[in-house]
Amino acid sequence: MHRYPKPKMKNQYSPNLSARIPFGLRGQELLSIEEVPRGLACDCRCPACGARLMAKKGAKQAHHFAHYRGSACPGALETGLHLKAKEVFESVRRVAVPSVYLYRQTVPIFEAQLLHFERVRLEQHLGKVVPDIILEAGTKRLLVEIYVSHSSGEEKARKLKKLGLSAIEIDALGIYRKLISAFGQFRTSAFERELVHGLEHKRWLFNDKQQRIEYKLRKQAAERPVKHRNYKGYHSYIVPGCPLEKRRWRSGFRGGEPFADLWQDCLYCHRCFEVIYKKAIAGFAEVPQEPLAVRCWGHLPLPKAVGWGRSV
Ligand SMILES: [Zn+2]
Repeated sequence: MHRYPKPKMKNQYSPNLSARIPFGLRGQELLSIEEVPRGLACDCRCPACGARLMAKKGAKQAHHFAHYRGSACPGALETGLHLKAKEVFESVRRVAVPSVYLYRQTVPIFEAQLLHFERVRLEQHLGKVVPDIILEAGTKRLLVEIYVSHSSGEEKARKLKKLGLSAIEIDALGIYRKLISAFGQFRTSAFERELVHGLEHKRWLFNDKQQRIEYKLRKQAAERPVKHRNYKGYHSYIVPGCPLEKRRWRSGFRGGEPFADLWQDCLYCHRCFEVIYKKAIAGFAEVPQEPLAVRCWGHLPLPKAVGWGRSV
């Protein structure tokens, strides 16, 4: 088999990313690669390990800092992006947040919007969590997690849920990669714009309003019993009285009444919270048996969040 040589692309994102840092520290000041002269004259140190940096501003690759001696410094990019993101939010005090959807809904309870804040606090304890950034306006607050190497995950979301604190997560490394592939160079202004106004690399870790509305809906939801039906040897599970009127009996004494097929309708229905099964213990595990009921909120109107104004 003939193999073509890999085409060498100029200024492409390289997997050897951690060795290339867009920021260096001069004293307490975090400088980006655009602001410093070439080579050792940049007079910068690594934000992670404190080693001397060299500004590489050649024609081939995206401009970056590299360690003068030694190379492997896994935390350099992470620390740099972290520091920069904090610095940006401290000076700008605004952040665009993505829209919030209830479970299985396609219409958001509130749209993506730009929120304004009065104060910024960095890495302070809030109960059991230490968020990267806390944005505050009056008594309301929004936590911001900057993630570079790993996402916060479910553990964090559970803690936030307990404390009732809304939080978004920003993928700073994703933004960095996007900028490098779009412009071939790191640009501080573009990074700031994407960090504050962009939505692509943000997601809600936890939203308190969503949680409250879903909790209320769950309480108001109806538990509709599931009935087994055997019609001419054809077995099915049906839910009589479906409020969304998925199907209707065509004839018989129930002719005209609505129902739903559990597997074909309810399982995929956007107004179904869960299917409740009869449980049996096998070993130490609870094993679901036949379905008993569905938790359905088809009879309730679609809620909308109120009071989420221009600021959190
Ligand atoms: Zn370093």
